[in-house]
Amino acid sequence: MNQPAFSLNVLLRRADARWRQIEADRPDLTDAVTLQRALVQRIAGLTAAIEDSDWAPPNLEPTTIVKTLRGSHALLHEHPVALPMSLLEPAFHDLCAILADSGAGDAARHIHDVVREQRLDATSLLNASLARRQSNIRAGAVHLDLAPDLLWLVAELTVGPIAQDFQRSTLTGDVDSAVRETLDAWGLGTCPACGSWPALGESLHGDVTLRCSFCGGGWNLPTPACCPYCLSPGVLHNPASSDQPERQLLSCEACCGYLKVVGVTEPIPFVLLPIEDLATTALDVDAMARNLVRPPLPEMAAKPPDDECQDTSTAD
Ligand SMILES: [Zn+2]
Ligand SMILES: [Zn+2]
Repeated sequence: MNQPAFSLNVLLRRADARWRQIEADRPDLTDAVTLQRALVQRIAGLTAAIEDSDWAPPNLEPTTIVKTLRGSHALLHEHPVALPMSLLEPAFHDLCAILADSGAGDAARHIHDVVREQRLDATSLLNASLARRQSNIRAGAVHLDLAPDLLWLVAELTVGPIAQDFQRSTLTGDVDSAVRETLDAWGLGTCPACGSWPALGESLHGDVTLRCSFCGGGWNLPTPACCPYCLSPGVLHNPASSDQPERQLLSCEACCGYLKVVGVTEPIPFVLLPIEDLATTALDVDAMARNLVRPPLPEMAAKPPDDECQDTSTAD
């Protein structure tokens, strides 16, 4: 059992206040807020159940962490996690149902049915998501005639609390000094814990901390305006349409990538990261108008077949 960094109830109250504010500021986002509220509440229930269970993330030795990071590998790409499937599988089906009722309709029901009928192995799917193996999940989806982006999303939402527990227990708080030094020297735009691109940058006292909305990780690049995708010098600027100076775009001429950067007074708690992502939708619109993009996840090296997102429909 892991000690939570914040009380979940306190965070949910903050989330609720933030959603009300978004609805007041941007009535066009009301449907998106309603969906996010339902998803976050179910995920909070899963997080509480995991905290109350005997499950714990693997306890990696500092030397193992240092060796993995020095090899420029994200920890979750290299180190498997035994998943508490009895907690995750009901959450997966509930999240499918929430998405089905919120516009995803038959596409979400189809995913639910295929997993319930064990034509797609839930453990393999969630392991592939945890290791960010997007191409495996896409291939499995196409083979089973499932919507690839929706399958990726529902798997990611389900296994997010596991990624967050792993990240928190492995890389935050009172970590070994060698691990801290290796983290400070990471130097990549992908999250050291899970290998995702950052969802947001947090600007505080001139530094920009990159934040991962999958595992909650935070890390820095050598210069605040460095492009996380290609590591070229980027430009931080306020979009002309924005009346909120604390919201900026980091854009890169070399790769046409962009990152939203928000001014903060403290790190954004994990639960609130997707809400800040939604609250800054105007920045995405502005970036798209400039033909800026967020690149797809970097591809991982091939893994042995038993680690892939397994389609069991053709099994004996
Ligand atoms: Zn991450
Ligand atoms: Zn770039």
